[in-house]
Amino acid sequence: MAKIIDGKAVSQQVKDEIRAEIERDGLSIGLAVVIVGNNQASRVYVNNKKKACEVCGIKSYEYALPEETTEEQLLELVDTLNEDKNINGILVQLPLPKQINEEKIIERISPEKDVDAFHATNVGKIMIGNYAFLPCTPAGVMELIHSTGTEISGKECVVIGRSNIVGKPMAMLLLHENATVTICHSRTKDLAEVCRRADILVSAVGKADFVTADMVKDGAVVIDVGMNRNAEGKLCGDVKYDEVEPKASYITPVPGGVGPMTIAMLMKNTLMAKKLQG
Ligand code: NAP
Repeated sequence: MAKIIDGKAVSQQVKDEIRAEIERDGLSIGLAVVIVGNNQASRVYVNNKKKACEVCGIKSYEYALPEETTEEQLLELVDTLNEDKNINGILVQLPLPKQINEEKIIERISPEKDVDAFHATNVGKIMIGNYAFLPCTPAGVMELIHSTGTEISGKECVVIGRSNIVGKPMAMLLLHENATVTICHSRTKDLAEVCRRADILVSAVGKADFVTADMVKDGAVVIDVGMNRNAEGKLCGDVKYDEVEPKASYITPVPGGVGPMTIAMLMKNTLMAKKLQG
């Protein structure tokens, strides 16, 4: 039977440490949270991020723009926030409405305020291994693995998914800690066989019940990044939890696993932004 990795508890610990540091050093930190349109999931994420700011002692400034906002208008807001001394971090909640080019917006955010670490400059730094901002979700996964006491160096790690925000930076962070990393995607042949090699298996696919017991080695650490809705509309991950859990040594639940860690890492980046900006 696997030990369950409690993402809520680990994330609370991270947030407590951030709050303690902010109080100790008397820091005044501002995070701009920009949301465009009426996407309900985005609204939930933004509310959770604002709540986490409150817990950590970070001031959040919400900019809620209408669905029909133009790219030019959003770029103007980003320019204003880049210049604003009270704002240390800028977060533009994705996805954006289709008339707005997301890449253009991300590239306009000052790399020093890019607390999501999506800007090409920050992505490049992650690649080199010399970075200040952590890619939030992958960094959260690393904290969860560390919390188990599992040694990463020399281990076989398999990441399913190669997106710019999860799969690729996830593989980089594992590589920086000397794992042997395989990245899988929709064209991977014999996926189950590749996954069975993993001492640490990270799934970031976005499909419910995707990872089944036959894909998991006995005693593997299984990290489920997926956030999906099952047939009953309930939040679930990628992993078929009931059948994988007995085989794994450690496993993250959904909800309560990687999700809370992503937000805690965002708070950590916002504190880092303040420190970088002085
Ligand atoms: P994404 O951009 O859609 O990427 C999904 C990846 O899965 C792609 O690389 C895709 O391969 C791969 N894939 C799809 N079908 C596959 C198959 N049959 N076999 C092998 N690989 C397959 O998604 P994402 O943004 O990385 O997010 C992934 C999941 O994580 C989603 O459920 C998302 O909601 C969740 N998420 C959670 C958090 C959190 O805080 N918990 C944060 C971010 C994302 P190709 O590249 O070949 O298409």
